[in-house]
Amino acid sequence: MTLVTMKKILAKANKEGYAVGAFNINNMEILQGVIKAGENLKSPLIISCSEGAIEYAGIDYLINLVTTAAKLTKIPIALHLDHGKNFKIIKQCIDKGFTSIMIDASHYDFKENVKLTKRAVALARKKGVTVEAEIGKLSGVEDLVSERRGIYTDPAEAFEFVKQTKVDALAIAIGTSHGAYKFKGESHLEFSILKEIKSKLKMPLVLHGASSVYPELVEKVNSHGGEMENAHGVTDSLLKKACKLGINKVNTDTDLRLAFTGALRESLMRNKTSFDPRKYLIMARDDITKVVERKIKVFGSQNKA
Ligand SMILES: [Zn+2]
Repeated sequence: MTLVTMKKILAKANKEGYAVGAFNINNMEILQGVIKAGENLKSPLIISCSEGAIEYAGIDYLINLVTTAAKLTKIPIALHLDHGKNFKIIKQCIDKGFTSIMIDASHYDFKENVKLTKRAVALARKKGVTVEAEIGKLSGVEDLVSERRGIYTDPAEAFEFVKQTKVDALAIAIGTSHGAYKFKGESHLEFSILKEIKSKLKMPLVLHGASSVYPELVEKVNSHGGEMENAHGVTDSLLKKACKLGINKVNTDTDLRLAFTGALRESLMRNKTSFDPRKYLIMARDDITKVVERKIKVFGSQNKA
């Protein structure tokens, strides 16, 4: 089928109380691995491309890959710009066929965030494209996004922000952070804030920086020549609870990177005489499918396609 809007996918998730994974892709193998998991479990999917992914692969390559994937499958797929900060790229995405964009002006003060978000909403509405914005700050470093310390979203401010901007989905800060090194001690999410925001807004809410950084994925990287120390993220049980309490979209990038890297390292080390990229990329693609299937089950979007 053709690409659908993220708004449509999230409306059903919000109504029925589950979350849909937004999986970051930047090449064909990762995309195919993600799509296969969605098909296996009959889950809708949000395919995310960051500005960094666009810089790496080229916007036309990414759009054509995802459009082709959508055409070949029956599950609903939205194509989403993750962390749009550059209006030139945001406009390109809207004009060229993305069905959803995120405007990330969360690093500015409230007034400026509202102003830039409204500008993005005006551009997107003309083409029926969904808009996600963010309020509150996440800590951590991922791709081109970096913040020194996290600040929780203020529920009253979130309400005012949505009233003024009329965005379709809102990313909130409840303690997650970007990247593979999320928490110093035990992972913790501020569920009271999530509950308060959901009761005020009743709209699709988004969780960023929510990869689990599964220990077995880190171990696979490290036991095959990698060096990642003390990486850890948000546990499956915390994520499950967040989805039950009103999160409808969970961004996942780090776990895919870990799965891909671990499988690639392992297959290269095992097959020392092979020089056929298909031989080792196929293992990386299969491990992407496995980790995405696990995510879909945690988010609750199985059989929701
Ligand atoms: Zn993010």
